[in-house]
Amino acid sequence: MTGISPEFDTTTYRMAMAQFDQAAARMDLDPNVRARLKKPSRSLIVHMPIRMDDGTVRVFEGYRVQHDNSLGPTKGGIRYHPEVNLGEVAALAMWMTWKCALVGLPYGGAKGGVRCDPKAMSRQELQRMTRRYTAEIYPIIGPDQDIPAPDVGTNAQTMAWMMDTYSMQRGYAVHGVVTGKPVGIGGSLGRDEATGRGVFVCVMEAMKRLGIEPKGSTAAVQGFGNVGGHAARILHENGVNVVAVSDSHGGIRNARGLPVPEVLAHKEKTGRVEGFPNAEPVSNEELLTLPCTVLVPAALSEAVTEKNAHGVKCRILAEGANGPTTLEADKILEDKGVLILPDILANSGGVTVSYFEWVQSHQMYFWKLPEIRERMADILSSAFERVYETHLRTKMDMRMAALTTGIQAIADAHRLRGLYP
Ligand code: GLU
Repeated sequence: MTGISPEFDTTTYRMAMAQFDQAAARMDLDPNVRARLKKPSRSLIVHMPIRMDDGTVRVFEGYRVQHDNSLGPTKGGIRYHPEVNLGEVAALAMWMTWKCALVGLPYGGAKGGVRCDPKAMSRQELQRMTRRYTAEIYPIIGPDQDIPAPDVGTNAQTMAWMMDTYSMQRGYAVHGVVTGKPVGIGGSLGRDEATGRGVFVCVMEAMKRLGIEPKGSTAAVQGFGNVGGHAARILHENGVNVVAVSDSHGGIRNARGLPVPEVLAHKEKTGRVEGFPNAEPVSNEELLTLPCTVLVPAALSEAVTEKNAHGVKCRILAEGANGPTTLEADKILEDKGVLILPDILANSGGVTVSYFEWVQSHQMYFWKLPEIRERMADILSSAFERVYETHLRTKMDMRMAALTTGIQAIADAHRLRGLYP
């Protein structure tokens, strides 16, 4: 089996690789397909000179990685973060492949990123950078080829600029080139909350299997952005006591439960959850080890590791983020009896509603919110059932059950399509 190419060699990539190797060893995976799936099919690095507001020019590095397109156009978000690198983007692209295949979407996996600090950039700088990045990756994206979406550090506005830049090159409005757009230019209702709502759907499925009532149960949510914020809100709306939330600045806790809508309003106003009245401060690290029914890591990767996994006290760990739990931590948590809802299942609500958005863009016919929520819940509940059933039948943990299910669908597609030329 081929090893890790030096250009991808980072901790996140190693983690994706180790997961894949473990899953592949549990399945009867064709060695040729295995060797192919260990590497992304296409990786692009771009360097973009961007004029900053003070007149200086800074060169930013950006990436777009397409891992596999055997099931359809590749799909995946764009991440703006100071530590983004090619290896991380490649790992995230690989996870998108398994995620789309697991839920049954006609997509392969991709991811993109720009190494920058979006919080330290003005709106105009972000717009110029986004437009230049779109122009640089233009040759390999498109509604039938590769469809970006928001991820960490990007949002609906970023997608609007990408859609506009792409459309300007074509000469007409191309709605289907990105998803997660604002509703006013072809975005889908319910896309903004979709990843958080998907986390909620999976938590409810898990509670049902474990005989836990949402009322009276508790949750701690790390990350209060697009995923964690909506997940906390929807859990709260459904009777779960949200006892702690955090963002990159720090967190707050209240054992009696936080009024999540008010915390969201406070975050909207001040840019952070810290300082919310009637709550005690809690650090991001402490939050992970608070006693609770459900822990939702919804920030960055490698949050739960062998160093802190022993202290985790939840019953269900629902991965809102991509890659928040290392393989070493998986083992420790399994021994403690924690049920992990793996990222490629728990956070798949986002790409599922992205798929609805893309379908609506092609149909030029837009669906109502209740229909979108119901269809997404249907898709996620049946994916949950497939994974849980595999977990019970094979005794694999939930992550391996999810990975092997996704990888099998890709392997089948490769076998059916055969090798070119
Ligand atoms: N960035 C999200 C994810 O990691 C969504 C991707 C998409 O909607 O295409 O699943």
